[in-house]
Amino acid sequence: MSFLKASVRDADIAGKRVLVRVDFNVPLDGGLVADDTRIRAALPTIELLRERGAAVVLVSHLGRPKGKRDRALSMQPVGERLAELLGAEVKQAPAVIGGKVEAMAEGLGPGEILLLENVRFEPGETENDPGLAEALASLADLYVNDAFGAAHRAHASTEGVAHLLSGYAGLLLEREVTELTRVVVSPSRPLVVVLGGAKVSDKVGVIDRFLEVADRILIGGAMCFSFFRAQGIGTGDSLVEEEGVALAAEALERAEGSDCELMLPVDLVLGESFDAATERREVDDVEVPDGWMGLDIGPKTAAAYAEAIAVAGTVLWNGPMGAFEMEPFAAGTRAVAEAVAAAPGTTVVGGGDSVAALQQFGLGEKVDWLSTGGGASLELLEGKKLPGVEALRDA
Ligand code: ADP
Ligand code: MG
Repeated sequence: MSFLKASVRDADIAGKRVLVRVDFNVPLDGGLVADDTRIRAALPTIELLRERGAAVVLVSHLGRPKGKRDRALSMQPVGERLAELLGAEVKQAPAVIGGKVEAMAEGLGPGEILLLENVRFEPGETENDPGLAEALASLADLYVNDAFGAAHRAHASTEGVAHLLSGYAGLLLEREVTELTRVVVSPSRPLVVVLGGAKVSDKVGVIDRFLEVADRILIGGAMCFSFFRAQGIGTGDSLVEEEGVALAAEALERAEGSDCELMLPVDLVLGESFDAATERREVDDVEVPDGWMGLDIGPKTAAAYAEAIAVAGTVLWNGPMGAFEMEPFAAGTRAVAEAVAAAPGTTVVGGGDSVAALQQFGLGEKVDWLSTGGGASLELLEGKKLPGVEALRDA
C-alpha cells in the first residue's frame, strides 16, 4: 500500500517559491519554546526544499488567538528556535499577509526562509476564507502541506490554499499517513490497541473501528470508568464522562459479537483527590468506594496489558493509563510505556499526552513511530478523510 498523494520529493521546485504549511503549534513557557519536537519534525522537508534551491515561505498556527493579533502567541520564539536548529537565518514576517509580507516573499533568494506570523491572527484562517487563501497563494508558486497535526481541519492554510496552488505532501505528512494507515489496513497480527486518557467521546470512533480490525483492545485511563459505570460497577468519585457511558455500553455490546477481545482493568490504584500528595490505595478489584477516585490501573492489570503487548505483531497506543503526571499514579502508564518500548512488534504511539509520557520515561526513541498529531491521527485511524490531505494533488 502506498500513499496516493503527490510528494514534495517529486515536485519540480528548483528556483521556485514554495509556501509550506507546517505544524509549529508548540508549547511556550516564559516566551520560549518549551518543547521543539514539532519544529524538529518539519526539518527534513525544509532541508529538502533548501537543498533543491527553493525559496521557503513557512506558515503555521500557534495556540488559539481567535482571529486577533496576540503578542503572546507571536511566531517570534519559534523562528528563533528554528534558526538555531537549521543553523541558518530565518526571516520573520511582521504579519501573515499584506504588502510588507509580499515584498519580503518576493525578495527571498534560493534556499532562504521566511516565517509568516501566526496564521490564526487572521479570522479567515479557521473560516477557510477564500480571500485569505488567495492572499497566501499569492506569496508562492507552489504549496506543500507538512502540518499533519492540522490536516483534519479545513482551514485557509491547510485546505483553501491547496485548491489555488499545486499542492504536495511534505515528508512528515506523508510518513504519518503511511504509518497510521498501515496499522488499520495491513497490520502484522495480533493487532493490540491500547486506549486510555480522559474522554471516551473523543475516542469512541476509534474504538468502533478497532472492534472490527483489532485482535485486542486494552482500556485504561479515566476512560475505563465510563465502561464500569455502564456495567453497573461503582465508580466513586472517579472522572466519568456522562456522555461516554452510553457510548461505552454500546461498545461493550458490539464487542460481544466481535472477534476482538475488549480488556478492562481488574485492579486499580485509588486516591482521595486529584493531587500527588493525596492518600493512595491499591485495590484488588475495580469497585471504587465513595470518597475515592481511580487514578491508575493496578499492577495485575499492568502486567496483563504488558503481556498482551509483548506478543503483539502491531501495537497502537493512544492515551495514558492513569494520571501519570503525578508520580504516585504513574506506574500503570510507565509499565505500558516500557512494554511498548520493549515490544518486538511494530509500535505506533499517538496522542500528545501519551507521547509526552514516553518522553518523560526516556523511551521515545524505542518506539517505531511517534505521531505528531493527536486529533488528526484519531480521525485518520477512524477512517475519516483529512481535508488537508484530500486537497493535495494525486500522485
Ligand atoms: P492523549 O493526549 O495521549 O490522547 P488524553 O488527552 O486523552 O491523552 O488524556 C490524557 C489525560 O488523561 C492526562 O492528563 C491524564 O492525567 C488523564 N487521566 C488518565 N487517567 C486518568 C484518571 N484515571 N483520572 C483522571 N485523569 C486521568
Ligand atoms: Mg491530550
